[in-house]
Amino acid sequence: MIPKSHSTDPAQSPGSSPGSPSVAASAARVAVVLIPLPLPEAYDYAEPEGLDLEVGDIVHAPLGPRAVAGVVVSLRDAAGVNRPLRPLEGRLEAPRLPPGTLAFIQWAARYASDAPGAALAMALRGLGSPLPRARELVVATGAGLARPTPARTRVMEAARAPQTRADLARAAGVSSAVIQALVAAGALRVILAAPETRPPPDPNLPGAALNPSQAAGAQVLRGLVDAQAFSVALLDGVTGSGKTEVYMEAVAQALRQSPTAQVLVLLPEIALTGAVIARFTTRFGVAPHEWHSGVAGPRRRLTWEAVAKGQARIVVGARSALFLPFADLALIVVDEEHDGAYKQEDGFIYQARDLAVARAKIETCPVILASATPSLESLWNARMGRYHWLRLTDRHGAAGLPDVELVDLRLFPPGPGKWLSQPLADAMAQTLARGEQSLLFLNRRGYAPLVMCRACGERLRAPDTDSWLVEHRYSQRLICHLTGFSMPRPDRCPYCQAAESLVSVGPGVERVEEEARQVLPGARIVVFSSDTAPDAAAGQALITAMAGGEYDVMVATQSAAKGHNFPGLTLVGVVDADVGLKGGDLRAAERTFQLLTQVSGRAGRRERPGRAMIQTWAPDHPVMRALAAQDRDAFADLELAERQAAGLPPFGRLAAVILASRDPEKLEIFARAFAAAAPNAEGAEVYGPADAPLALIRGVRRKRFLVRAQREVDIQAFLSAWRARARPPAAIRLTFDVDPYSFL
Ligand SMILES: [Zn+2]
Repeated sequence: MIPKSHSTDPAQSPGSSPGSPSVAASAARVAVVLIPLPLPEAYDYAEPEGLDLEVGDIVHAPLGPRAVAGVVVSLRDAAGVNRPLRPLEGRLEAPRLPPGTLAFIQWAARYASDAPGAALAMALRGLGSPLPRARELVVATGAGLARPTPARTRVMEAARAPQTRADLARAAGVSSAVIQALVAAGALRVILAAPETRPPPDPNLPGAALNPSQAAGAQVLRGLVDAQAFSVALLDGVTGSGKTEVYMEAVAQALRQSPTAQVLVLLPEIALTGAVIARFTTRFGVAPHEWHSGVAGPRRRLTWEAVAKGQARIVVGARSALFLPFADLALIVVDEEHDGAYKQEDGFIYQARDLAVARAKIETCPVILASATPSLESLWNARMGRYHWLRLTDRHGAAGLPDVELVDLRLFPPGPGKWLSQPLADAMAQTLARGEQSLLFLNRRGYAPLVMCRACGERLRAPDTDSWLVEHRYSQRLICHLTGFSMPRPDRCPYCQAAESLVSVGPGVERVEEEARQVLPGARIVVFSSDTAPDAAAGQALITAMAGGEYDVMVATQSAAKGHNFPGLTLVGVVDADVGLKGGDLRAAERTFQLLTQVSGRAGRRERPGRAMIQTWAPDHPVMRALAAQDRDAFADLELAERQAAGLPPFGRLAAVILASRDPEKLEIFARAFAAAAPNAEGAEVYGPADAPLALIRGVRRKRFLVRAQREVDIQAFLSAWRARARPPAAIRLTFDVDPYSFL
C-alpha cells in the first residue's frame, strides 16, 4: 500500500509555505516523498534534472521554510501535471531503503492506525547522526631518522603497524610532540583508516552439544529456514531447556543461505543483550551488531548503514531494531516473545512481536517466537495450527523443575511492617547454611510504593498527576515513576504541615532488602533493579557477581526474572504474588503467571534441586493453583475460556482511543461529540468515554474509549472512519492504541 499522494499546491500544502519560492514543473518526473513526520499523506515534488531517483532513495525535501530528509515512495511521469511543484534539494549520502522496509513501514502504519510518516521516523532513526570520521593512523614510512634519539628510535620500532597517534605515543612512552615532529620529518606518515569493519560471522563453527529434544527442534527450524518462505514457529520450552542453542542453529542455517543473508534477533531488554551477544560471539566467531537506545551517535549511523548494505549479518536489538532497513532478511527471532516490553506505548504505538510476524511475511522469511511462557495469543495460534509448535521438554543439565509451594499468608502472616513469612525466612536460613543462594522477587522498585500522612490521611502525589510518589531510600528522594518528578522526602506533611507524620506504606525491593538483613545477619545481600543496574553494563556486572557466588541473597524486580543463569541459586521467594492480579486489566493474570513461572524457573538449574515459595493471600485463585501445580495448559485453558466468553483477544479485537488535553472543559465537550460520532458497525462496540485509570499526568487530562470488535472486523478501518467523522480541535490530542496492553 502506497500512501495517497497529495499535490504540493503551494497555497495549502506543507510542501511549501505561502510566498515561498516554487518552480513550475519542468522536470520529467514527479517524486512522491514520504516525510518522517505524523502527516496524513506523502507529498509530490519535482525531480531535478540529473538526479535519477529510485524508489527508496532518501532525499532532502523542502517543507515550509526548511528541508527534511524524506523517502521516495513512488515516481511517475510529470506529463499532464500543470501545477507548480517544489523541486527536491538533492539526495542524502545514505543507502536507499529496501523495498521490504518500505512495504513494512506502510503496513505497520496502517495496522497502528497512525500516519505512515510516524512509522518512517522509526526507520530513519539511525540517520540522525553523521557517519564517524575516518580515523587518522600513523605508520613508519621506512625513511631513516636524520637525528635519532632514544625516544625517536622507540617510536619507529613501535610504528611498524598502523595505529593512532595516542596509541603510538603510549606504546613508545613519548609525548605527542615527538610523534608530530616525526610526521613533519617524513619518518611517519598519516593514513586514513575506514571506520571499523568486522569479518562476517562463521556459521560453521561448532555449536553447542544438543540433547535429543533440542536436536529435534533445531532440525525443524533448519527446515523452515531452508524453505525460504514465510512461516511462524513457536519455540516453547521451559526455563533452562536451552532455547537459545536451538534457535542459534536456525541462525547458522540462515547465514549459510547466501553471503548477504541477514538475521534479526529481538530481545525485550537491554539488560539481556550482554549475555546474548557473548553467546553469539562464541558461536559465530564475531560479535553481532547491536541496536538499542544505548547505541548512540556515529555508531548508530554506522550500524544503520551496515544493515542497509547487507554487511550487518546478525543484528541483536531491542524492539526498534525491527524498523532497520534490512537488505536481505532471512530470519527473525523474537526471544522472550511474551514480554510486555515489546509493546511501545508512546510515539508510534506498536507491538514488536506482532509486527515481527508481519515483517517476516513481507520479507518472505521465517520468524521464531521463543519463550518459556508464551503469550496466550501465540499459544492460541499454535493450538490452532497456524504456528509450528516446538516444545522443548528436557531441562538442560538440570535436576528437573523446582518444587513450587504456595505460602498461605492467612496462615503465616508476616509481622507488622514485615513482608517475609516465617516459612520463607526459615527456608532462606537453610539455603544460606548450605552455602547456596536465594532470590527474593518483588516487582516494585524503591523502598515503599506509597508515602502517607498519619495526621490528615493524604497520600503524596506528583504535581498535577494521579500517581503516588515512590519512596527511594538509596537516593533519599520521593519519585514519580510515571513522570520522573522527584523531591527530597519532606520533614512535614505538605498538605497539613504536621511534623513527623509521614509513614512509608507497603514494600519495595529496598525495604525487603532491609528485612532480609534482619532475617540473615551477616549474609551478603544485593538489590537488582533499574536503580542499582541502570544500564546494561551495570546489570551484567551484578549478574556476573551473583553467578560467581559473590552474594547470598538477591532482592530483584522483574529485570532478574529473565534468562539469567545462576548456578548456585536454589531458592526463589516471591514476596507478593498478588501484586499483578490487582491490575484489573486483560492480561493481569497472564502476566502474573508468566512472571512467576519465569522467576520460579530461576531456581536449581544444575544438579541442585530448586525450590520456589510463593507468598499469597489468595492461594485459591486459579492462577495460584495452576502455578503450584506448574500446569500451564490448565492455566491457558481457563484464561482462554474467559477471554472467549468476553470476546477479548485473541478471540476478538481491542483498540483504545485516548483523548488528551490540558483543557478539561474542551476535553469534556469533544469527548461527548466524539462519542456521538462513533460509526455504527456490525460486530464492533464502543465503551466510554471514561477517565483513563491515570486520568491526570503532568496536568494533562485523559479520557479513554475502548473498542471491542469481532475478529473479522477491520478495526483499523473503523478507527479511521471514526476520526474522519470528528476531527479533534488543536487543543486535543487523539491517539489510537490497537491491541492495548497497559490500560493507563
Ligand atoms: Zn498531612
